[in-house]
Amino acid sequence: MIQFASFDTSKPNTDPKPTGDAEKVRLLILGSGPAGYTAAIYAARANLKPVLYQGLEAGGQLTTTTEVDNFPGYPEGITGPVLMQDLQKQAERFGTDVRWGMATSVEFNREGGAHKVWIDEEKLIEAETVIIATGATAQYLGLESEEKFKGSGVSACATCDGFFYKGQDVAVVGGGDTAAEEATYLAGICNKVYLIIRKPIMRASKAMQHRVMNTPNIEVLFEHVTKEIVGDKTVNGVILTNSKGEEVKINVTGFFVAIGHKPNSQIFADYLDLDETGYIKTIPGTSKTNIPGVFAAGDVQDKHYRQAVTAAGSGCMATLDAEKYLGERY
Ligand code: NDP
Repeated sequence: MIQFASFDTSKPNTDPKPTGDAEKVRLLILGSGPAGYTAAIYAARANLKPVLYQGLEAGGQLTTTTEVDNFPGYPEGITGPVLMQDLQKQAERFGTDVRWGMATSVEFNREGGAHKVWIDEEKLIEAETVIIATGATAQYLGLESEEKFKGSGVSACATCDGFFYKGQDVAVVGGGDTAAEEATYLAGICNKVYLIIRKPIMRASKAMQHRVMNTPNIEVLFEHVTKEIVGDKTVNGVILTNSKGEEVKINVTGFFVAIGHKPNSQIFADYLDLDETGYIKTIPGTSKTNIPGVFAAGDVQDKHYRQAVTAAGSGCMATLDAEKYLGERY
C-alpha cells in the first residue's frame, strides 16, 4: 500500500463551469487518504470547520491493501480499510464535514482570498483556504492477472509489503530509481530478487545501478517483458518474454510493480507550480504552494517517501500552515 489517490484529476477540466450560489467555507480539504484526514483532525480541533471531499476512492489507496504493519500506534498491525475508517471517524468526531464527491475544476485566486472549487462539475465552493491531498496513483502494467493478484502477491510498495515475503523469491518490474530502490530493499529481506527491465539499459541513477549490480541476490533480467502473473489463490510465478521472443518462467511469490506514479494534480496545473513529473511544488519545509491560501499535503507533493505516516505528518503541517495564514489574513 502506498500513494493515497483519492481523485482522478488526470485531465484538466475545460468544460464550462456553473456559477450559482457558492457555499463559503474556511477550509476545504480535497482527498481522504492519511494526509486529508490528518489535516481534517487538526483543522476540526482548531475550530476551522473543515469540509472534506473524499474523491473517487474514499480512503485512498490504503483501502486497497491488507495488513499495515508500519503505521505507528498499532502494535498488532491493522488493515488498510480499518485504518482509514478510524481516521475518518476521528476527523468526524471533532466535527469535520466529510462528503462524497470530487473536485473537477478550480479557479484559484492568485492574490489569496476566495478560491473557487467545483465539485462533480456542479457545486461551487468558495474557500478561504484549500488543502490539496489528492494523492498519487501507482502505475500498473495493465495485465488482467496483475489485477487479480493485487493484495495477494502483487504490490506497488516494497516498503509496505516486502515483509510478507521474507525469505522468499520475488520480482520487481521497472528500471528507474524506484525499482532499483525497491529491489535493494527487498534483497535485504527476501531470498532472491529478480529485477525485470524492458530495455537493455537501466534508467536509474548510476549510484542506484551500482547498488543493484553489487547486491548478490538481485538478478537483473534486461530486455524482458512481463506477459502474465500466474498462481492459484496467490502468486507462484511470472511468465516473461525475452528479446528473442522466448517465454521464460520465474518462480516467485511476490511481484512488485515499480514503473512510476502519477500525482493527481492535473486540474491544478493552470495555477500551481508542478515539477516535471506533475508533483505539486511546495516551499521546502512547509506545505505552501505558490498561491496564498492553497496548501498541498501527502503524495501529491511527495515523490520520495510516499508512506502513510509521512502523508499524515504533512497533512498536519498543512493545517498548521492554513491556520496561521487565516490568522494573519482574516
Ligand atoms: P521512472 O519514470 O523514473 O521509471 C519508470 C521505469 O518503469 C522505467 O524504467 C520504465 O522503463 C519502466 N516502465 C514504465 N512502464 C513500463 C511498462 N509498461 N513495462 C515495463 N517497464 C515499464 O519512475 P520512478 O518511480 O522510478 O521514479 C520517478 C522519479 O522519482 C524519478 O525522477 C526518480 O529519479 C525519482 N526517484 C528518486 C529517488 C531517489 O532519489 N532516492 C527514489 C525514487 C524515485 P523505460 O526506462 O523503458 O521507460
